[in-house]
Amino acid sequence: MPTGAPDADQYDDRVATHTIRLFGDPVLKRPAAPVAELNGALAKLVDAMYTTMYEAHGAGLAATQVGVQRRLFTYDVQDETGPHVLVNPEIVATSGEWVYEEGCLSLPGLAFEIARPKFVTVQALDLDGNEVVIEGDELLGRVFLHETDHLDGVLMLERLDRDQRKEAMRTLREQGMGVPTPGGRLHAL
Ligand code: ZN
Repeated sequence: MPTGAPDADQYDDRVATHTIRLFGDPVLKRPAAPVAELNGALAKLVDAMYTTMYEAHGAGLAATQVGVQRRLFTYDVQDETGPHVLVNPEIVATSGEWVYEEGCLSLPGLAFEIARPKFVTVQALDLDGNEVVIEGDELLGRVFLHETDHLDGVLMLERLDRDQRKEAMRTLREQGMGVPTPGGRLHAL
């Protein structure tokens, strides 16, 4: 076997789950690149992301949150249809407004009421390369927006108002800027 730096398209499949990257990890601030090829390695990554998402009790998980700089996310909003994965997702339409107490697996212990669009249409590929267009409302729409933000290197901290942001920064400082806390919060994204 060759040694040296792993190829960018060789995802780590040695473990069944991945460590969720926490606030302060620079990978969370970097925009992810499109997925170029739907292959077996990607399918393995998706399986590991499903396991990681469920272990953390998350409703959604972006690849960047496990340190993979590729545009895909998994989700399950507990409507008996999941888990699902969307590859190269793009938000193509939004409307309405909905306030939801949003959490993030990369920001353990933080949750804030954030207003975002209520209806969200996402266009993406499934794992077989089929184009899919899904309209989600409320929690599902929120997952689409939150995870797509992750793929753009944007954390929900950037969606907070001034007072919420101050409170968030204080909490993060008290936690030592993102010291891991075990487990996640149900419905964290
Ligand atoms: Zn998140």
